[in-house]
Amino acid sequence: MKRAKVNQGEDLQEYKDVYVIGECLDGRLHPVTLELMGEGRKLANQLKRHLGVILLGDGMDEALEHLQDYDADVIYHLKHPLLKDFSTEGYVKVLNDFIRGNKPEILLIGATSYGRDIAPRLAGRLGTGLTADCTKLEIDPADGKLLQTRPAFGGNLMATIICPKNRPQMSTVRPGVMERAHKLAEGKAHLVTVIPELEPKDIRVALVEKKPPAKKQVNLIDARVVVSGGRGLKTPEGFRLIEELADVLGGEVGSSRACVDAGWISHAHQVGQTGTTVRPEIYIACGISGAIQHLAGMSEADYIVAINKDPEAPIFNVCDYGIVGDLYEILPAMIEDYRKRKEEANHA
Ligand SMILES: Cc1cc2nc3c(=O)[nH]c(=O)nc-3n(C[C@H](O)[C@H](O)[C@H](O)COP(=O)(O)OP(=O)(O)OC[C@H]3O[C@@H](n4cnc5c(N)ncnc54)[C@H](O)[C@@H]3O)c2cc1C
Repeated sequence: MKRAKVNQGEDLQEYKDVYVIGECLDGRLHPVTLELMGEGRKLANQLKRHLGVILLGDGMDEALEHLQDYDADVIYHLKHPLLKDFSTEGYVKVLNDFIRGNKPEILLIGATSYGRDIAPRLAGRLGTGLTADCTKLEIDPADGKLLQTRPAFGGNLMATIICPKNRPQMSTVRPGVMERAHKLAEGKAHLVTVIPELEPKDIRVALVEKKPPAKKQVNLIDARVVVSGGRGLKTPEGFRLIEELADVLGGEVGSSRACVDAGWISHAHQVGQTGTTVRPEIYIACGISGAIQHLAGMSEADYIVAINKDPEAPIFNVCDYGIVGDLYEILPAMIEDYRKRKEEANHA
């Protein structure tokens, strides 16, 4: 295997600007794109550089039009019929060529399945470092380097990582962690269409069929309300109450890892360090102790409500409203109350 050429000998001063790799599959823009743009703008302003957004694909005019309403200096659309469907090889080849040509100083990618697939390969080809799953990004005022912070050692400490000798400085950022970009008050972001070099022989994997998931997909990231259950439910059947409350509030069902590990609910519902990071308006934690790894995924919620029978449970240190008591008494009362209010509102 050919070793990646390390760009150590290059003049690092040649690298400028902050780029983010947006995500658009089947014409749908992933919310992480706007989050990366929000964070990218902050970094670009600190460095007094431009913010560029890269979007790959074909037949995505609506998504591009929408994206142009948000704060970016340039949107680069890497357009090619062979990029219509995602392929690791095709996407990485095109990105590698583009990044080598444009030399951004910082490159941000979503820590989604898409980003986790392409980011390490791309970093390998570019001969630079990659810090995965960053929760905080800052510019070092002393030397302008990117300080990339992420949980380490099971979330027990936060590590700040730098990439001193190679460029671009690459980070993946988990969805739901960073604030979304603002809409432009007027005008549109500048759109540049780039036709990359790509041939069928560059993609050795053929897409045979696309199947929609059999079950309704869990969408914790966009949910305005998340009702989560923990080991305090005692049995998998306890999630019926969680579902009922989520349903009446128009929210999604979340879970602690303890319930996922016990096989009570699928990993798609897990909130936390090794699950999904959520940022809802209301997060209701039922029978969840508040371990640091769980808090890592929900502490940015606008309001946190905790229901726990142990008044000493650590979740009470982070919640806005705490209810000490048995969830099997509290949840049915909440469900009934919200149902009544909903009916009254519907008849008003
Ligand atoms: C590397 C690593 C990654 C991890 N990632 C995650 C992650 O992503 N997400 C995550 O959640 N965890 C994660 N964990 C696990 C985490 O450390 C905790 O073990 C887990 O969050 C505990 O889940 P829990 O709060 O449901 O259970 P417990 O800690 O057992 O808490 C149950 C709570 O229910 C309360 N309770 C019991 N009965 C009732 C009742 N009838 N009514 C009301 N309250 C009741 C109890 O007082 C208790 O506070 C990770 C751990 C490691 C080491």
